[in-house]
Amino acid sequence: MAKIIDGKKIAKELNEKTSDEVKKLLVKDNIVPGLVVIIVGDDEASYRYVRNKHRTAQKLGINSIVDSQPATISENELIDLINKYNNDDQINGILVQDPLPSGIDEKKITKAIDPKKDVDGFHPLNVGKLFLDDSTNYPVACTPKGIITMLDYYNIDIKGKNAVVIGRSAIVGKPMGALLLNRGASTTIIHRYTKDIYEYTRNADIVVSATGQVHLLGQDAFKKGAVIIDVGQNRDENGHLVGDVDFEDASNQASYITPVPGGVGPMTIATLMQQTVELTKWSKENGE
Ligand code: NAD
Repeated sequence: MAKIIDGKKIAKELNEKTSDEVKKLLVKDNIVPGLVVIIVGDDEASYRYVRNKHRTAQKLGINSIVDSQPATISENELIDLINKYNNDDQINGILVQDPLPSGIDEKKITKAIDPKKDVDGFHPLNVGKLFLDDSTNYPVACTPKGIITMLDYYNIDIKGKNAVVIGRSAIVGKPMGALLLNRGASTTIIHRYTKDIYEYTRNADIVVSATGQVHLLGQDAFKKGAVIIDVGQNRDENGHLVGDVDFEDASNQASYITPVPGGVGPMTIATLMQQTVELTKWSKENGE
């Protein structure tokens, strides 16, 4: 029977470490890490995510600001607002919650954030560093970074393994592929145009699925002993939160598996907090 990768437990421990780091920064350097989340419009799900981030940040001692803007804000006004926070010494991390209204170019907004405050790790400069496996400090997309933390927590080998990532989004699939590749896995990224996804998943030692398709993968999708990481956060026909993987079924094949909920989800927020503190320390080390 598969071991369950307990995202809630790992996230709790990571948050405790982050809280300790926040205390140290205050006592030694009189610094309080600052995180601003900019939310545009009134999308209910976005507000729920932002509230969760805000509450967690406050609990850990991070100075958390939620800056709500109306859906009518123009692209230039939003860029001006980002620049205000880019120039604010009290702010170490800037996150713009998606989705943005249709008139605003998300790529332009991502580029407007100072790469040193890019807590989501989406800025092209940071993505470039990730793909080059740069040796300096830089932020990385929180969901994939959190998944690596989970694999390391259970001492799951990455080097030399066959890893398959399903999904090629900029926020999960691509950075996940880069992280696994940097850690020495033979990595394949597959997606909706891949002819036969099973041809890849059945040979994989590690499968990370981020498709948003309810129960796309059952036990016949995996080889015996596979490590299965389910990023999907989907609603089934009864409105329940489920992943891309049929957990009960796939557990028969897996050596390790993440549940939904309680797997990858809690790690994403905990990693965001971890990274806010890392950005704060890196800017202090650079004398900024
Ligand atoms: P996206 O829609 O941007 O990308 C989905 C990817 O899946 C695409 O590359 C697409 O080609 C691929 N895909 C879709 N259907 C497929 C199929 N049948 N076979 C193979 N590939 C297929 O989505 P995203 O933003 O990367 O998010 C993916 C999922 O992960 C969603 O359920 C989202 O809610 C969830 N998510 C969870 C977290 C978390 O913290 N747990 C964070 C981000 C995203």
